[in-house]
Amino acid sequence: MSAPEFRAIVVDRTEDESGKRTQSAALTTVTDDILMDGDVTVAVEFSSINYKDGLALMGRPGVARVWPLIAGIDLVGTVESSNDPRWSAGDRVILNGSGIGESHHGGLAERARISGASLVRLPEALSPVRAAAIGTAGFTAMLAVLALERGGVLPGSGDVLVTGAAGGVGSVAIALLAARGYRVVASTGRGDELGDYLRGLGAAEILDRNTLGEPGKPLQTQRWAGAVDSVGSHTLANVLAQTHQGGVVASCGLAQGADLPTTVMPFILRAVTLAGINSVEAPLALREEAWGRLATDLDLGLLDGLTEVIALDESFAAAERILAGRIHGRTVVDVT
Ligand code: NDP
Repeated sequence: MSAPEFRAIVVDRTEDESGKRTQSAALTTVTDDILMDGDVTVAVEFSSINYKDGLALMGRPGVARVWPLIAGIDLVGTVESSNDPRWSAGDRVILNGSGIGESHHGGLAERARISGASLVRLPEALSPVRAAAIGTAGFTAMLAVLALERGGVLPGSGDVLVTGAAGGVGSVAIALLAARGYRVVASTGRGDELGDYLRGLGAAEILDRNTLGEPGKPLQTQRWAGAVDSVGSHTLANVLAQTHQGGVVASCGLAQGADLPTTVMPFILRAVTLAGINSVEAPLALREEAWGRLATDLDLGLLDGLTEVIALDESFAAAERILAGRIHGRTVVDVT
């Protein structure tokens, strides 16, 4: 009997005679033979388009580490079969990071075989489509908010800055922080177009991202009790230079650049903490805590308002748009 077939977006890499490597992705039909090791098989319902998925789908290097690879760093679905005693057929599960869509087949496919060790049970308060709308971006935003809380940045501490505000991480971070009672300032390059959207999420003030994007002094006027940064580079350096004594800056991303042209001054003269956020390797206990808090803290009406749902074959156009900075909020892929 031949193995069952399913649809998947597969990233592949070829090498010509001169050694030049080309990576590309295509929606294709594969069989179960392609699946990698894992003790849980999942019927995938939803995935999403994150910046990393944009890179993988547009053939850019740095995300896929094995080939051929099913793309998609997020998945939400129903367990079909399991050799892991924690999971049974019919369980609704979430997986983000943990190497899927990078070194293990990901969620942009109708089926996945994965390790039960990193799966999180879908919280009762969340539907599968909403869990996918949160996805890696929202999970990362929650990890950043937890890092601020652990560093003692509380709603009464002062303004909290969110950079890359209209992106996936930024949008969910604003909604989470505002719901908790923080006064949120949103830094964006699209204030004219998306100011109302950002205020609707809970931003009290909009800041033009250009004011943070150029080299600045190592210590500047103290403005932020804390910050959630998706941007890196000069932006993160300026945010650190503007953070209050004892403040916390959560570093999530590199939309402007992976460099960090700063000095030790914010750390040694203002006791600023730079907290690193890594959604991919987050341990299971932290995953469960973050998903539990997302289920209780996030306004689901706001989440629906920042979400667009597309079909699997529309993923490529969405990938192009996210790399061009033309997407706001979250894009869910209905893979069924
Ligand atoms: P998005 O593309 O949805 O959002 C990124 C936002 O950054 C854009 O919407 C834009 O916001 C802003 N931006 C883009 N280019 C620039 C630039 N040149 N200078 C300043 N700002 C810019 O991506 P995500 O929200 O999904 O991810 C954000 C970052 O976080 C990415 O770098 C991603 O790789 C990283 N990431 C890291 C994770 C981790 O585990 N640490 C997990 C998930 C994501 P606006 O239009 O408002 O200016």
